[in-house]
Amino acid sequence: MISLTNIHKTFGKQEVLKGIDLTVEQGDVVAILGPSGSGKTTLLRCVNFLERADEGKVQISGLTVDCEHARKHDIVQLRRKTAMVFQHYNLFKHKTVLDNVTEGLIVAQKVPKAEAKARALRVLEQVGLAAKVNEYPSMLSGGQQQRVGIARALALNPEVILFDEPTSALDPELVGEVLSVIRSIAQQGITMVVITHEMGFAREVANRVIFMDGGVIVEEGTPEDIFVRPKQERTRQFLSRYS
Ligand code: ATP
Repeated sequence: MISLTNIHKTFGKQEVLKGIDLTVEQGDVVAILGPSGSGKTTLLRCVNFLERADEGKVQISGLTVDCEHARKHDIVQLRRKTAMVFQHYNLFKHKTVLDNVTEGLIVAQKVPKAEAKARALRVLEQVGLAAKVNEYPSMLSGGQQQRVGIARALALNPEVILFDEPTSALDPELVGEVLSVIRSIAQQGITMVVITHEMGFAREVANRVIFMDGGVIVEEGTPEDIFVRPKQERTRQFLSRYS
């Protein structure tokens, strides 16, 4: 289980997160929706301390870290429980597909090389890239690169995978292949939090939907609650842009 309590984050004079409370149960697929600038990415990055919240607590499966006073050791421990999939893939350009996936296992998790390779081959097969293991990112389409990013996250066997707009940098014709890989992972019961502008995907794959605006969670519920019976005017206005 993941629990965020009273997360605050300010950049300069701008308070970007204004006290966020959020609990994610094991196996949940949580979609975070909201307009540009509402604080979605910042919130996700506060979970694994890519950004350090000014105030609040992050708890992941038994480890609770006070953001303000977190020590390096706690942050390393917390990060090990998470994996992130980035909008722009963030692959190592000079490493093969296989090495992109094994790198984190060997360096951060100290997994022996042969085991790391076996794990990497397994997850690359899962995302449909078994034939590409020896290629370099530049030889792949954006959709394939993002699938490497997803394989890399999966290989770490984390408590939660954090997806930061995983399809928003892709050409429209490549979005479907990445969403279908994410959907298949979701069906395996892996806990995930996904920032997305793909409303159809959120509606179909998430079991909980969060709508953020102005640094707060305005409304949350099942996909049906949010898409069919939104309670808040701000949610309705936001969703009307997509219909
Ligand atoms: P988008 O959908 O456009 O990605 P978002 O909801 O994910 O938006 P954030 O990226 O979290 O929003 O940004 C929220 C606000 O915080 C924005 O006004 C942004 O400019 C600001 N911000 C984010 N990161 C930083 C930073 N490192 N330094 C200063 N300001 C930042």
